[in-house]
Amino acid sequence: MEGGGRRVVAVGAGLAGLGAAQQLRGHGSLRLLEAAARAGGRVCTRPFASGLAEMGAHWIHGPSPGNPVFCLASRYGLLGPEAALEENQQVEAGGHPPMPSVTYGSSGKVLNPKAVREARELFYALLASTRAFQGSKEPPWPSVGQYVRAEIARTVPTMAGGQEDARRLQLAVLAACLKLECCISGTHSMDLVALEPFGEYVSLPGLDCTFPGGYSSLAERLLSDLPEGTVLFNKAVRTIQWQGSFREEGDDARVFPVRVECEDGDVFLADHVIITVPLGFLKEHHEKFFQPPLPERKAQAIRNLGFGTNNKIFLEFEQPFWEPEQQLLEVVWEDESPLEEPSADLEASWFKKLIGFVVLQPPEQESGPARAQERAPLPLAQRSLHPRLLQLRGRRQLGGRHRCARTAAARGPARPPAPAAPLRRRGHAPHLLLHHPRGAAVGVARGRAAQPALPQS
Ligand SMILES: Cc1cc2nc3c(=O)[nH]c(=O)nc-3n(C[C@H](O)[C@H](O)[C@H](O)COP(=O)(O)OP(=O)(O)OC[C@H]3O[C@@H](n4cnc5c(N)ncnc54)[C@H](O)[C@@H]3O)c2cc1C
Repeated sequence: MEGGGRRVVAVGAGLAGLGAAQQLRGHGSLRLLEAAARAGGRVCTRPFASGLAEMGAHWIHGPSPGNPVFCLASRYGLLGPEAALEENQQVEAGGHPPMPSVTYGSSGKVLNPKAVREARELFYALLASTRAFQGSKEPPWPSVGQYVRAEIARTVPTMAGGQEDARRLQLAVLAACLKLECCISGTHSMDLVALEPFGEYVSLPGLDCTFPGGYSSLAERLLSDLPEGTVLFNKAVRTIQWQGSFREEGDDARVFPVRVECEDGDVFLADHVIITVPLGFLKEHHEKFFQPPLPERKAQAIRNLGFGTNNKIFLEFEQPFWEPEQQLLEVVWEDESPLEEPSADLEASWFKKLIGFVVLQPPEQESGPARAQERAPLPLAQRSLHPRLLQLRGRRQLGGRHRCARTAAARGPARPPAPAAPLRRRGHAPHLLLHHPRGAAVGVARGRAAQPALPQS
């Protein structure tokens, strides 16, 4: 450990733990305990095809001076030149940067862009109207999903000028919008996201950007900045005693209130402990993990907060089936409606939760630094419609030009792109959200919102 003074133990070497360690550098002594054999947690870049693929986080959302991840990445020189452009940092994309897209129906046809746009405009107007309930003691519905569906039901009679086919299409697009919003909010259903605090979420300005050398380059850089020996890997923490008086053998003079015990029996005494383990771990273990248990208010928050599954599937194509300018391929199940209950049999219908693909461009279109050129991913796309292609998992080395695809299963790229805006951005950067920092769903407890969400994935 470095320095003297206060002794701090941080648990978990994901970006939160690494960030905390970076802030504390030079202030007392610090030990970072990580259960896995590597740092980064849900940030994990892996080689794929002849490029890189992000297993976890991919984008910096809202990359502008108010965003600490952006500031760190910029300071370390890990971003491409477009991220440094002030005009890109000022874009008010509302979390949904525009990108050229095409929407396919489940029949395989490209859907009428005007009809798709109209349905989306209705959906986003409804979402925007949720802000009116912020702070409300009696919102009309407990959840965003119930509210939006009730409003859609009210609109149905006048929808699409009353034409049945057009109305069905609009409902199908609205169902796809709801699924996309699930991805963005990190929830299985918008019925699990509380209406009242939904409007609290604020998007930072900035056109979402990616790391040319992979998101893990940030974790690696943070790690390499710490004095050697600060981080201990394969050190899963079992319990944290946090209101005691502990002494080290042979040193009776110094008393520590915190005792951290690991699964392998190692013990670390500290003045302070910083916990950055995921919410899922806390849900399962908090009662025994903390001794004494956490105050009821905190335990209640852990119980009430929720989150959904966030997976990605990577697919690789020999030849693109999409047009070169298309960056987002969206899919709509034409027989779906937000007014009908979705199938509860996820094993049989999970792929219907996929909402589209983000196309990543070939490295030859990259304009980033040399390292990025060397390591940038080959064309990647997110795709869900074609079951045969979904079986193309993992790596497949192909001759000539490569095409890869990847899909997010429960949280996906985002949204509807207006026509290509004259924004400058990197060719490869999808700029849409597989994940959105709005983070986990806010639990709805007894018809009322629980504590505000913590980002989960
Ligand atoms: C598929 C996916 C896509 C995402 N996309 C984006 C994106 O594009 N942009 C974005 O901003 N965010 C994205 N996210 C979210 C982002 O990855 C997370 O919010 C962020 O990485 C969380 O960091 P963290 O340090 O809080 O937690 P984690 O990264 O989960 O780190 C927690 C660490 O604690 C360790 N740990 C757990 N238990 C113990 C224990 N008992 N003892 C010691 N160590 C322990 C874990 O091994 C882990 O290393 C995505 C997440 C996923 C899963």
